[in-house]
Order: sequence, then C-alpha cells, then structure tokens
Amino acid sequence: RAKQVGQNHYEFHTPDMNSAAHERLSMETDLQRALQNQEFVLHYQPKIDTATKAIVSVEALLRWNHPTRGLVLPNTFIPLLEDTGLINPVGEWVLLQAACQAQAWIDAGLEPIRMSVNISAKQFRSHILVETVRRTLGASQLESRYLELELTESMFIENAERSIQIMQELKCLGVSLSIDDFGSGYSSLAYLKQFPVDYLKIDRSFVTDLVSNKKDAAIAVAIAALAHSLDLKLVAEGVEDQAQVEFLEKQGCHELQGYLFGRPVSAEELEQVLRQADRGQEARRPVDTAA
Ligand code: C2E
Ligand code: MG
Ligand code: MG
Ligand code: MG
Repeated sequence: RAKQVGQNHYEFHTPDMNSAAHERLSMETDLQRALQNQEFVLHYQPKIDTATKAIVSVEALLRWNHPTRGLVLPNTFIPLLEDTGLINPVGEWVLLQAACQAQAWIDAGLEPIRMSVNISAKQFRSHILVETVRRTLGASQLESRYLELELTESMFIENAERSIQIMQELKCLGVSLSIDDFGSGYSSLAYLKQFPVDYLKIDRSFVTDLVSNKKDAAIAVAIAALAHSLDLKLVAEGVEDQAQVEFLEKQGCHELQGYLFGRPVSAEELEQVLRQADRGQEARRPVDTAA
C-alpha cells in the first residue's frame, strides 16, 4: 500500500510489502547493473564419454558474483532475468563468453571439446536468437560443431511448429542441439520425432535414485530406449556414484555428467583438468615408431 505523503511522491511502508517482494525488488535493481559491472561469471562442468571416460564437452553454467551476497546460483536469478527482459543481453554475453573460452582452449593447444550453453525459454522465443548464435560463431571463430545449445521441452509447447523452424535454422548453422532435463517437462512424443536435435539429457530427478527406486529405473530405461530408437545420443546429468554409472552404461548412455566426474568450476580450474586429461591421453598413445 502506497501512502501519499507529498503532492507527487509516495512512500512505501515496509510492513505492507513482504520481505520476499523486497528481496526480489532489490535483486532486480542489482541485476540491472550486474552486466556492466562484470559481476557475471561462467563456471564449467565436464561431460565425459561413457566408453573412453574422456572429457568430450563442458557445460557453461552462469553464476552471479554479487558484491554483498557472494556467489549467487542461477535458479534464484534466471527467472528475474527473464521477467525483466535482461535475459537477452545476459544470454548473448553467456554465448560469446563461452564460445570465446572454448576457442581459447583450442588455441592453447588443448584437444577440442564441445561447449554447451543453456538457452532460456524467452531467449529461444526471441526472434534474434539465430542471429545472435551466428554472430557469436563469427566473433569467437569457434567452429560451429563445437557449440551445443541446451534447450528444454517446456519451450516447445507454446508453438511446436515455430520451435521446429527455429531448431532447423540453428541446425543450419552447424551447432548441436540438446534437450535438457528430459522427462521433467511436457514431452509430446509426436513432436519429439520431428525435433532436429542431437542429444537427450535425462533429467537428474530420474538419475538420483536410479539404483534404489524401481520407478525411476523404469523411466530411465524407457528414455534410453526412446533415444536409441530415435537415433539420438543419450546424456545423463547428476551422476554422483559408480552404481549409477554401471546402470547407465548398460542402458547405452553415451555421455555422463555429474559431481562424480567434476563439479562446475572456474575456467582456470577447468583448464588444469583439461591439460591433465590431455597429458594422460598422450601417455596412453602408442609410441610413434616412424623412422
Ligand atoms: P541444468 O542446465 O540442468 O544444469 C545442471 C545443474 O545441476 C547445475 O546447477 C549443476 O551445477 C547441477 N549439477 C550438476 N551435476 C550435479 C550432480 O551430480 N548433483 C547435483 N545435485 N547437481 C548437479 P546450476 O549451475 O545451479 O544451474 C541450475 C540451472 O540454471 C541449470 O540447470 C540451467 O537450467 C540454468 N542455467 C545455468 N546457467 C544458465 C545460463 O547461462 N543461461 C540459462 N538460460 N540458464 C542457465
Ligand atoms: Mg543444462
Ligand atoms: Mg540439465
Ligand atoms: Mg537439470
């Protein structure tokens, strides 16, 4: 309730506004400045090839280094970015930052890996996404086959035909597409067969209790069968122990991601991990016998 104090200005009484609303308002105000203050940072989490255990991809995960709150995780502020429309400029920054990082690692002589970037629903529906991705590839010089976009099922429900068109335009650029958190949203299987995607990422909620919960196991098996019959690569997120790995291996899961293989870490830390992995691979390679 706003109480009129002067002629033209209003005073807000804190007891009337609950603290959650206040919190939200103050976060929104801070978010307006976060991009120009360079408070956003990307962390990177590896995905490994199930067969070789080599890192084949990293997912860029956004963090907000807030001056007083510390490191803020995306689930608290992505919805605010979406509501305020800031998701487009921030999403563009994420794409460019991630693509430039991937190219920097290639330039540094590391084995090329894919860089996955999460795309929000609003970003996906915005008419500039395809152009933004095109510009990102040009500016970063990253080969399009090394860029992967993670989309979620919920983005497609509003307008499936239009979604397919956007996905096709993105595929024409040469990037890979993945359906993130698969099984947690509204999947129209009729549309799924038409989506030009490359990867299905089983949602963590089914992976967590995979070994102890028969229903989760049944869902994981069904998703794996679906992926195989649609000729999509299967990825599992949230893998935390060896028993899950064994189950997922049996189901023909192509890639694994989770704390067992590595938490999201800074670019510097991930670079160390990549260097070590490359050295390990070199050591296993047969000695060059060419005279
Ligand atoms: P997501 O894309 O499904 O990412 C996986 C989330 O699970 C990440 O949380 C990651 O840190 C966490 N995770 C990974 N492995 C494990 C595990 O073994 N156990 C557990 N318990 N958790 C694990 P994070 O980084 O907090 O991100 C949350 C969500 O925020 C992401 O879910 C994604 O939807 C969104 N997000 C993150 N970065 C961006 C971004 O740049 N743009 C957009 N639009 N969304 C983003
Ligand atoms: Mg993701
Ligand atoms: Mg995910
Ligand atoms: Mg998830």
